[in-house]
Amino acid sequence: MSDFYCENVFSGKVEVKKVKETDNILAFYHTNPYYELHIVIVPKEHILTLLDASDELISEIFSVAKEIVKKLKPEGYSIRVNGGSFQDSKHLHFYLVSGEKIR
Ligand SMILES: [Zn+2]
Repeated sequence: MSDFYCENVFSGKVEVKKVKETDNILAFYHTNPYYELHIVIVPKEHILTLLDASDELISEIFSVAKEIVKKLKPEGYSIRVNGGSFQDSKHLHFYLVSGEKIR
């Protein structure tokens, strides 16, 4: 079980390019993107999965996603969250992706 966000991002071990930050949430460009535009939106507090997140937090995550879409104006985009065996890092994270798949 790894937690990329607590272990590398919030610890400062890996430097990320921030897109948007609030008191509770950080959005940054994926360090090893799968899409031309690949943004990660994570709660700063350690929250394991979607099911552990409050509705308020989920709402705030989508507000941040909305602001990013407004700002970057991608032509087409998708907002995703993985759970269970689909979830790679054991810290809740959403993806905002756009453009071609690059790997
Ligand atoms: Zn964590």
